[in-house]
Amino acid sequence: MTGILIAEDEERIASFVAKGLRAAGFQPTVVTSGTDAFDYAMTGDFGLLLLDIGLPGLDGLEVMRRVRAAGSTTPVIILTARSAVEDVLASLEGGANDYMAKPFRFDELLARIRLRLNDAVNSPETGVEWGGLRLDLRSRRAVVEGRQIDLSAREFALAEEFVRHPGQMLSREQLLSRVWGFDFDPGSNVVDVYVGYLRQKLGAARIETVRGMGYRLV
Ligand code: CA
Repeated sequence: MTGILIAEDEERIASFVAKGLRAAGFQPTVVTSGTDAFDYAMTGDFGLLLLDIGLPGLDGLEVMRRVRAAGSTTPVIILTARSAVEDVLASLEGGANDYMAKPFRFDELLARIRLRLNDAVNSPETGVEWGGLRLDLRSRRAVVEGRQIDLSAREFALAEEFVRHPGQMLSREQLLSRVWGFDFDPGSNVVDVYVGYLRQKLGAARIETVRGMGYRLV
């Protein structure tokens, strides 16, 4: 079941949308502030984000900018109270896939949600990104602040593992099994050696050592 995050502080609208989505076979989650919206969005549990612009904490546009800056390509539909041209432009320029002006009919919102989910399924992922580091999944190259960097296949796989789990501590054993697939014995120092290569190529400060545990992309 596809999870949909609804960030809307007007209870009446949030419950009307949630009820409709549930009836249409989706799994809606409602949050009522921008800060919660960002935290929930970053879990990666949602197939689509529905963000009201007027939210306490962070506004919906700022939530979207931060989500996009963190490398997420999850489809976003912005809800706006006004159909002001500036809001629409800001939404689309900030990376929204669509917008809905309130008041709206539920069936129109549902049609747009289905359309955007469909687009997302049909456009293959081309890259992953975190904090100024982008990995192009087609050319298998890294881009750091606009500069292209060649990586070996193993270096790329290791970098991808970090970028897909930003800020998370990854143990040597996790990295070894996910990137080398148990081809190496657990006592091997191959992970440390390759982290050293990535630090040379991508910048030493990017990968932090968690003493005695593993590594973390910062
Ligand atoms: Ca609002």
